[in-house]
Amino acid sequence: MLKNIIIAIDGEASSGKSTQAKKIADYFGYTYLDSGAFYRAITLFFKRKGITTIDKFNRNELDNISLNSKYNRGKNLIYLNGEDVSDDIRSAVISEIVSDFAKEKEVREHVYKHLRKFSNNQSTVIDGRDIGTVVFPDADFKFFLYADPKIRAERRFSEINNDGINYDSVLNNLNYRD
Ligand code: C5P
Repeated sequence: MLKNIIIAIDGEASSGKSTQAKKIADYFGYTYLDSGAFYRAITLFFKRKGITTIDKFNRNELDNISLNSKYNRGKNLIYLNGEDVSDDIRSAVISEIVSDFAKEKEVREHVYKHLRKFSNNQSTVIDGRDIGTVVFPDADFKFFLYADPKIRAERRFSEINNDGINYDSVLNNLNYRD
């Protein structure tokens, strides 16, 4: 049997990780896995229970969360307990609170478990900030993407599409996160 290949794409915020990861997946016919989407799906699960701050987070609930993903040529679907939540996880509220949930050790371990299980039986391109270092230290290929902060801020700014946010605050936020 042929060995499954894992390609890990790490890099700075808005450096183009998912764009490149999907291109590589499409080129080789591998599947693509968006680790950030799994953090978003867990956050959505808690938000639906009215839990929007991490102090109300109950780690026992993680046992009730099953995550899955289906990728087909540029289109990525994310499932939370069998339900397609691909659109719901992109809401502004989830974007705002996901980082707090993603900081929790148990949340991270729950995501790692699903990422590793998913890539166990298929060649996969995975992107995310700790993918090559923590989640798949033995990945077959690892990339770390850098890009000029001004270009990254422009990209993020055009994605946000929110009148209340200006370019400079996006640039400052990126510099802070770096
Ligand atoms: O990539 P995306 O913005 O969808 O990720 C959502 C959030 O999940 C990030 O802002 C970050 O807080 C968290 N995340 C993480 N580790 C990853 C991917 C995402 O902590 N590998």
